Amino acid sequence: MYNYDSVIGNDKIIKSLKLAVDNNRVNHAYIFDGVKGSGKHLISNIFAKTLNCERGEDSPCGECISCQTFESGNNPDIIYVRRKEGDREIKVDTVRNVINKNIEVKPYRNRYKVFIIEDADTMNTAAQNAFLKTLEEPPEYAVFLLLAENYNKLLVTVLSRCQRFKMQSIPSPVIKDYLTLNKGIGAENAQLAALYSQGSIGKAMELSASEEFNSLRKVVMDTTVRLLETDLIGMYELAASAEEYKDSVDAFLDIMYLLYRDCLVYKQTGRNELLIQGDNIDVIKRICGILDTRRLIRGCELIGNAAEAIRRRGDFQLVIEDLFFKLKEK
Ligand SMILES: [Zn+2]
Repeated sequence: MYNYDSVIGNDKIIKSLKLAVDNNRVNHAYIFDGVKGSGKHLISNIFAKTLNCERGEDSPCGECISCQTFESGNNPDIIYVRRKEGDREIKVDTVRNVINKNIEVKPYRNRYKVFIIEDADTMNTAAQNAFLKTLEEPPEYAVFLLLAENYNKLLVTVLSRCQRFKMQSIPSPVIKDYLTLNKGIGAENAQLAALYSQGSIGKAMELSASEEFNSLRKVVMDTTVRLLETDLIGMYELAASAEEYKDSVDAFLDIMYLLYRDCLVYKQTGRNELLIQGDNIDVIKRICGILDTRRLIRGCELIGNAAEAIRRRGDFQLVIEDLFFKLKEK
C-alpha cells in the first residue's frame, strides 16, 4: 500500500508535500530528481494518491474510492506518461496524446488530474517544447510530477516552472538497519548491500535479495585485475565474456567504480577500515601496485561515463570495449 509510513528517509520532501496540501498551496509541477531506487516513484505516487484522496488530508486515507482505485491501478485521474517500449526517448506524440489532449478533459471524479511523467529527463526537445505549452497555462486541476535521474537534461524553461525536490541519499547504517529489521536480511549481507547502494534504498533491497550479487562481485574483481595485467587480445576476450553480465551491467559498473574508489582511498590513506570492500584487500593491493593515483582518478571518471552511456541506452559491447581499452591506456 502506498503510504508515507513506508518511505525510508526523505523526511524534508515529505514534510514539504504535506505542508503544500495542508496550506492548500499545491503547485502545478514538481520534479523529483534522484538516482534509480532513491524513492522517486514511491513518493510521487503517494503524493498523487494524497491529492485525490476524498478526505483531503495531508496523507492518503487508503479507504475512499479514490484511494482504492489508485491501489488497483485504475484511478482515472492519475495518468502515467512513459516512454514507448524500445524507445530511448519520450517523443512528442506521447506528450501530445497522453498529456496535451487529455488535459482538456476535466478530472473524472477527483479534484486534481495528476500526470506522473516517468523518466521525464528522456523527453526529447520537441517533446519538452510540446509539454511546455501545457505547462505555461495549465488548467486549475492539473498537477505534473516529473521523475528524473538527470534533471539538467530538462529545458530551463521547463525547470523554471517546476518545484524541484532533490532526493536525499540515505545513510548506510539506516539502510542496513532497515534491511535487517524489516526485511530479515542477515547482518553481513545487509551491511554490504547498504554500502554498495550508496544511499539508495531501492538498490539496497535489490542487491540484498540477489544471490548473484556476490558472484558478480567476484567476477568484477577478477575482470578488473586481469584487464590491467593482460594484453590487447586478452582485453577483447574479457570484454566479450562480460556480455554474459549484460543484464546486470549497472551493478557490474557500480562494483567496478567502487573498487577503483577503494583503491584510491587505500593508496592515499593505507587504511583498511575506510574501504567498502575491505574483504578484498588482496585485489585492492594488486591494483594499487599497477595504477598510480592519476590513473585511478581517471578510471573512476571513465567508469562513471560508461555507466552514463549505458543509461542513455548505448550499445553494451561498444561501451564496455571502449571502457576497457581506456582503462588500459597509460
Ligand atoms: Zn482516500
